[in-house]
Parts: sequence; structure tokens; C-alpha cells
Amino acid sequence: MEKKKNERTFFIESFGCQMNDRDSEIMAQLLSDSYKPSLTVNDADIVLVNTCSIRQKAEQKAMSLLGTLKIIKKNKPGMVIAVVGCVAQQEGKKLLARLPYVDLVLGTQNIYKLPLFLNDITANHKRISAVEQTAAFTIPPYLPDVDKGQAHKRFVTIMQGCNNYCTYCVVPYTRGREISRNFTDIIAEVEHLTRHGVKEITLLGQNVNSFGRDIENNETNFSKLLRATAAIKGLKRLRFTTSNPKDLNDELIQCFADIDILCPHFHLPVQSGSNIVLKRMNRKYTIERYLDLVNRLRIARPDIAITTDIIVGFPGESTEDFQATMDLVDNVRYHGAYSFKYSDRPQAKSVAFDGKLSEEVKGERLATLQAKINQIVMERNQEFIGKIEEVMVEGQSRTHTGQWSGRTGSNHIVNFTAEKSLKPGRIINIEINEACQHSLRGLAK
Ligand code: SAM
Ligand code: SF4
Repeated sequence: MEKKKNERTFFIESFGCQMNDRDSEIMAQLLSDSYKPSLTVNDADIVLVNTCSIRQKAEQKAMSLLGTLKIIKKNKPGMVIAVVGCVAQQEGKKLLARLPYVDLVLGTQNIYKLPLFLNDITANHKRISAVEQTAAFTIPPYLPDVDKGQAHKRFVTIMQGCNNYCTYCVVPYTRGREISRNFTDIIAEVEHLTRHGVKEITLLGQNVNSFGRDIENNETNFSKLLRATAAIKGLKRLRFTTSNPKDLNDELIQCFADIDILCPHFHLPVQSGSNIVLKRMNRKYTIERYLDLVNRLRIARPDIAITTDIIVGFPGESTEDFQATMDLVDNVRYHGAYSFKYSDRPQAKSVAFDGKLSEEVKGERLATLQAKINQIVMERNQEFIGKIEEVMVEGQSRTHTGQWSGRTGSNHIVNFTAEKSLKPGRIINIEINEACQHSLRGLAK
């Protein structure tokens, strides 16, 4: 017997970045008016796969889940399968042709119309592709559901898309042109969250430093938004991600000196240590300028932890270029770094570049780089031993039974022992007594 609408269940699997996680939260909220969440994919009547296409590997993960869903759907013909996010945007209608068991392909600007499309699919047995993008798009003023998700920390999207066109990157195609959210909507969303007990906010965008530039007659910018957000009552910690170094200016650096609750952590993706490669990547800064920014951030906030993203094996990367990246890592001594093998993406300009490196060379370079990063990160972690750190409690440790887990302002995970039960969001002093590769350990003071 066919289920009634309010008996139908949904499941969302989210791949990729925090922007996708936030979009998945929004879709869950939109669906929960009419459907119930399901605990597993197998039990769900509607399955959304929120995809990432930043590297080929990310795309493959989503494709592999879709392969499993195809098998499940054979025994559940009424199941609705939707592909959402960046792969959906990139492939559009082609996905409906390639994957006949998929009912909906939903692009990154279309998630707010999800319930309408689902109604159409069930009522009219349609298959739909909705991937239109327009410069007139605005992110609706959508207040998050405070009863679901983490109670003490949340992500708030401040802009969508990117205008930078780094030659390796698919984001400007999958997420569209830069669109900033309305300043007052962002502040209203943060106020709503803090009124309901949220203590930490991370402002999200692909290139937050250029917030506001797309708004006509605009008098605001990212630093002003940071200052206004930091002034909201009840907020204890403020973070943001991600920034392109080319847009990091003195006004933003000054925020780290002035705003107490702005956490001492800056994720500043460098991508390569070679000026020749940076130019071919269209990054629009030099290593000299990057090092100057790092230096100025450290002067403004001496305890700041700087982390980064690095791509190895970009087309044409010579052994000297790779050595320049190794030297940069030695020089900056990052507190953390994500590193990736260069991956051809369908619409990216670098697909047509000469000098592609073999998977073997890319793999060797990545392993060499990661060994260096791990060594430096471990040394950086050891610098915390003996210090008292303010740690925001996240909950009971998942890896260390009987212990608690939290994060420092610098975003280091700390597992610690405490005598009493602790509420997530509380900030307590922890004396650090041990450093591990991915976390610190300590005792509540
Ligand atoms: N907006 C950020 C910036 O400007 O640095 C980057 C955000 S991007 C979503 C996350 C990271 O994925 C990039 O910093 C880069 O290191 C990596 N990435 C992007 N495209 C890639 C590609 N084609 N191959 C390998 N890594 C890639
Ligand atoms: Fe991609 Fe970041 Fe460059 Fe934008 S600034 S194109 S998101 S790497």
C-alpha cells in the first residue's frame, strides 16, 4: 500500500565542504515540514545525495553511493533519488540520461525549491533537472532549525559562488558567480542562533574576503561584517572560512588584533610555493606577498595558528617548483595543511595545460610533502605542552572512553579528563600535557 505523504521518510548523504553541510541542513529543514527523517538509506523513501566535484575522487564517492542506491531501488520502486550540489550542477540533464534511476538533479541555486520538485515528481511521475543559475539569485533569509543539529556551534553562509577562476578549480562553474547575502539577514540569523544558546559561529563562503563586492552602492565589507557579528550578545567564538590570500587586506588583519572573540586561526590556502606555478594557477599573489601576510597576521595576533591547502603536481610543476613548496612549508611552519594531488576537472582551464604529471610522480610528491607537514604539525602541537588553553567543550570524546573533547581557539582538538559532566559550548581552562599527531591531551584546571 502506498504511504501517505507525512509517513514518507528522507535521508541526506552529504559529501564535500561545509557549504554542502549547511545546504544539507537547509534541505533537511525544508523537508521536515512534510516528511520524517530516516536513520538509514535503506529505510528512506527519498534519498538526497549532496555531491562534491572539487576533485575526481570526491565525485567518485558520490557515484559509488548512487550505484548502491540503484540496487536498493530495484526492490523499492517508489523510492525517489535526488542528486544535489556540485556534480548535479556540473552535469545537469546529462545525469538523468546516464542514471535512469535518478528522479531529480538539483543545482546549487535551486535547493530552496526542493519540496515543490518532490511534489511534482510524486504527483506526476516526472523526472526533473533544475540547474539554472542567475546573477539575480539571492540566498533567502532562512532561519535555522535550532532543535536539530549541534546546539553550541553552527555554520552561517554569508556568500555563494566565486569569481576568481583559479585555473584548476571547478567552483566558479558549480557554485556560480559570487553572490553575497544581505548583511541584515546574516546578522538576524546569528542573533536567532545565539538567542537559542549557540556559542560559536563560523561564517562560510568560498572567498569570504570579497564579501559585499557584488552589491551595488555597497558600503559594507567582510571586516565590517565580522565586527558587527562579534558584537552580538551571547556569542563566545567567531570563525570564518575560506579566504583567497589575494583579497586579505590590512583591515581584516586588524580585526585579529581588535576582536577578542575572533578565534586565533586563519586558514590561508597557498596552493604552491612557486611563483611560476601560482601564476599558471591564476592565484594573483606571489610567495613574497603571501609570506608578508603571514608575518603581519602573526604580529597582529601572536598566538594565531595558520593552516593551508596545497596542490602538488599541477601541470608543468618542475622539481624546483615542488622544492619551493617544500621550502615554503619549512618557512611558514603551518599548524595544519590539507594537501592534494592535482586532479583534472571538466570545466577547469588547466585541463588543456601542457606538462601533465603521472599519477606516480604526483603520489611520490604528495607523500614527501605530507611527511614534512606531519613532522612540523607534530612539533607545533608539542609547543602547547605545559600551556593552559581555553577549550570549548564539544562533548564526550569519541576516541578516548571516559574523556571529554573540545577545541582550542586555534582549532586544535583537545581530549581531556574532567571530574564533572560538562555541557557542550562551555569554555574551560585545560592544561595541555601531551601532544599527538591530530590532537592534544590535557587536564581540566
Ligand atoms: N576558496 C579557497 C581558495 O581560494 O583557496 C579554496 C576552496 S576549494 C573548495 C578547496 C581546496 O581544494 C583548494 O584550496 C585546493 O587546494 C583544492 N582543489 C581545488 N581544485 C582542485 C583540483 N583540481 N585538484 C586538486 N585539488 C584541488
Ligand atoms: Fe576555487 Fe578558491 Fe580559486 Fe575560487 S578562489 S576559484 S573557490 S580555489
